[in-house]
Amino acid sequence: MINYQKIFQEIHEELQGVEREGHVADYIPELAQIDPDHFGVYLTMVDGSEYGLAEGQKRFSIQSIAKVFSFVLAYSRVKSDIWARMDVEPAGTSFNSLVQLEYDKGIPRNPFINAGGIVVCDILISELKDAKSAVLNFVKEISGVTDITFNTKVAQSEKMTGFRNYALVNLMKSFGNIKNEIDQVMDLYFSICSLEMSCQELTKAFLFLANNGVIPYSGKRILSPSRTKRTNAVMQTCGFYDEAGQFTFKVGLPGKSGVGGGIVAIHPEKYAIAVWSPRLNKKGNSHLGMLFLEAFTTKTKSSIF
Ligand code: GLU
Repeated sequence: MINYQKIFQEIHEELQGVEREGHVADYIPELAQIDPDHFGVYLTMVDGSEYGLAEGQKRFSIQSIAKVFSFVLAYSRVKSDIWARMDVEPAGTSFNSLVQLEYDKGIPRNPFINAGGIVVCDILISELKDAKSAVLNFVKEISGVTDITFNTKVAQSEKMTGFRNYALVNLMKSFGNIKNEIDQVMDLYFSICSLEMSCQELTKAFLFLANNGVIPYSGKRILSPSRTKRTNAVMQTCGFYDEAGQFTFKVGLPGKSGVGGGIVAIHPEKYAIAVWSPRLNKKGNSHLGMLFLEAFTTKTKSSIF
């Protein structure tokens, strides 16, 4: 029997001596004010047991991690073929790059880069009555946490400064891959990015992906086993910006990171783990978060590889 709590403590102590590299995501004014030394981690097993350390229950801005929620909602509920609107290939460029998108004629490389997340929002608006409430209710349903909210200040802060995201959506609109009004699409996109959740809540929300598509605590199926496999595959190859190769190499789990400094990863049939440390490396992933997860899968021998 693995003593996860002890392993958490061991890794935490080992990382105390590691240099605090990286910077918080200061291109979003509201996020620039975050104390870079926050740290939290949480593990929820498919069997229901839970382990946490430090600020594992403190909420933070989950940013791009939310792209998994909006994507799964679209993948599970909409009738149109979402793969006609986006691909499943790693980006090979930064998360908000325009270069590749021009080359690919407005078709995002995958649903987890910004362009892909924006197209998912466009699809949700076309297919659902109230897409914003639908995403929020979906996150509440899969996590079992009823008081999760958008942070309107963070969303507003991005609306005022998200020039590159507006460039992406305009470019895609010029290629015919955005069907709705740009402001409506971006309002949904920035709202989704502004969701605040703790590591504990994130592990609960992601647990169905470790459980063949079924929420363990309610028994409700969210995705078929085949779609669960595919979602995990896209997280593995595209969930960590232009660093999915390194993450696979060092940690070896499917997951998703966000510029708020959070990372969630799952081990099929075993667990969901989330870590939060706001200092980001050059690729936009949490520096300490990656080191923590690397040590975790090494010590517990629980990489999927
Ligand atoms: N809201 C952020 C943006 O659009 C999300 C980036 C991220 O977490 O990857 O720039």
